[in-house]
Amino acid sequence: MEDKIKLFMDEVKTRNGHEPEFIQAVQEVAETVIPYIAKHKIYNGKNILLRMVEPERLISFRVAWVDDKGDIHVNRGYRIQMNSAIGPYKGGLRFHPSVNASILKFLAFEQVFKNSLTTLPMGGGKGGSDFDPKGKSDDEVMRFCHAFMLELNRHIGPNTDVPAGDIGVGAREIGFLFGMYKKIRNEFTGVLTGKGRSWGGSLIRPEATGYGTVYFANSMLQTQGKDFKGKTVTISGSGNVAQFAAEKVLHLGGKVLTLSDSQGYIYDKEGIDEEKLAFVMDLKNNKRGRISEYTEVYTSATFHKGVNPWEVKCDVALPCATQNELDGEDAKTLIKNGCICVAEGANMPSTPEAIHEFHQAKILFAPGKASNAGGVATSGLEMSQNSLRISWSREEVDSRLKDIMSDIHDSCIAYGKEDDGYCNYVKGANIAGFVKVADAMLAQGVI
Ligand code: GLU
Repeated sequence: MEDKIKLFMDEVKTRNGHEPEFIQAVQEVAETVIPYIAKHKIYNGKNILLRMVEPERLISFRVAWVDDKGDIHVNRGYRIQMNSAIGPYKGGLRFHPSVNASILKFLAFEQVFKNSLTTLPMGGGKGGSDFDPKGKSDDEVMRFCHAFMLELNRHIGPNTDVPAGDIGVGAREIGFLFGMYKKIRNEFTGVLTGKGRSWGGSLIRPEATGYGTVYFANSMLQTQGKDFKGKTVTISGSGNVAQFAAEKVLHLGGKVLTLSDSQGYIYDKEGIDEEKLAFVMDLKNNKRGRISEYTEVYTSATFHKGVNPWEVKCDVALPCATQNELDGEDAKTLIKNGCICVAEGANMPSTPEAIHEFHQAKILFAPGKASNAGGVATSGLEMSQNSLRISWSREEVDSRLKDIMSDIHDSCIAYGKEDDGYCNYVKGANIAGFVKVADAMLAQGVI
């Protein structure tokens, strides 16, 4: 089996040698899915995984725009249309200076499995740009988004490819992108998700990734007869995912100790309660400030520059910032400090070494493609509401989100439970995600 995986990975590395994040994401899937393929005849000899690692289409384009001083800038825009076997391409747009083909291909690849797990008919895609919205005026962001959509519009559509937000792309950016799409196409359609409430957006979509992560973690805890009540929780990030993960932890009776941004983390020993969280939401969403400013208002907290929050003792850890933010050493520290559950709100925040440590210690560990799937699942619900031209209530969407997260948890258990009763959620998510896409690809022939 080792040989089969190595042979496959050698081929992937030959073609994508300069794309480390993509190779990391593929390796994790290959290690769990190739043994499954070997045991199931219908998938043998079809090169399905090899087909799945090659994007159906990779679009790269120039985005030229003018700043407030009249200077001209050039950024690179992308859309990776990874797999459309089970539905239109679906996945977010990321605006961040680190964006390149490797990062977007890893995200698009993860998205294929994640979207399959949601039980909704969505293929996988991802896009974005190396544009950095940080420090830009609203007008500059608008001009960039408009320029970006001037090209992207010809590659997307409500039945073709439906982008949404990701890091650096929130309600403001989706608004500008949607406005330009509508102007060019003269169509009001559900071409993007994460839209504002009054123009086609779904209730609960902003909350969905964070809420879903906590619903999933709660299901994991329940397998051991536990829940969030009285649990200490460390969270990284302070954007959309982290904010609503924190809110749901509070709803369920947990105590949130940390939040972070790219400069460091804050540790509030008294807990970040609802009032303090409202301060963070205003600071991050409206004032676009730094998390360190929290300590200027709340003296119970300390700011730890240039480090991540995994050194803080906790029961549950929710990495909600970005890829590879939790390494093997961090994992050892979490385990040593008694952490019993790690659920990823971000995409691939744990390195392979960290995942290895969690599995060795047999603590509960959920990969992002399962635990953070609530965001895209609710995007799927937004698409359904747009097609039906109706709008479901908060309760309706939240209850569907809960059901979907619970179904994903069941799928992980079905495919990931090992002989000793421990659930390997990585294996469970990869195989469950694979089976649905692979079956559709088999049915559709070699294309
Ligand atoms: N960017 C989110 C994710 O990683 C959401 C994508 C979407 O809603 O299409 O799943």
